[in-house]
Amino acid sequence: MLKTVEYSRAKKTRGIAVTYRAGNGSNYGTCPASCELNPSGCGASKIDVDYLDAVLDARPVKGVSFTYSHFSPLHWKRKLAANKTVINYSAKTAEIAAKFMRFKVPCVVTVAERFWQGKKKQSVNGALIVRCPAETIAGFSCADCGNGDPLCARLERTFAVGFTAHGASKKKAADPDQRAVAMPVGKRRACTGLRQPRKIRTKPTGINCAALFLDCPRVQ
Ligand code: SF4
Repeated sequence: MLKTVEYSRAKKTRGIAVTYRAGNGSNYGTCPASCELNPSGCGASKIDVDYLDAVLDARPVKGVSFTYSHFSPLHWKRKLAANKTVINYSAKTAEIAAKFMRFKVPCVVTVAERFWQGKKKQSVNGALIVRCPAETIAGFSCADCGNGDPLCARLERTFAVGFTAHGASKKKAADPDQRAVAMPVGKRRACTGLRQPRKIRTKPTGINCAALFLDCPRVQ
């Protein structure tokens, strides 16, 4: 099932349109079964191609849209294009993000607080990881990000976006043997059906921006 919110009130996505989606009968039904943040013991072995295509086409008129996926870019990299929704690969570690960045895959990664060492960017294996500005600027949201060109909505970029683990994922991100990613915004939602996302044409904050969630219940 897909839930759409015209004006998000979540802290990070405040003011932009967002969608929430989970699998049929299970929060984790659309997640890769192999994902370490998926404790359900079940999940999808393949990406939902019909939904993937719908999300890719859901870019707002004169706007931008972005999403995140734990599925390997092998499933979707070839579908990325300038006029489509940007899919960010949620890499398990900064090292894995660095590896995929060499193949021009837009990446995000969740890291432990100590990763930043008080800075807003770090380099790992030659790849630049830039901290999500919403983590360090009070009242900042995706609508304020990048002067109308949000970092997560940039298809061709030379850096990965880094999120700092908090809540349930904090311990895992701090443990090199157990690192896992957390989605940057949102709440877990149980959904029971499926429908296509609608085109989003709102312009609530000066930029026409939408965050769409492809395969995972988000972890706040
Ligand atoms: S880096 Fe991404 S999640 Fe963070 S404010 Fe910018 S667009 Fe939003």
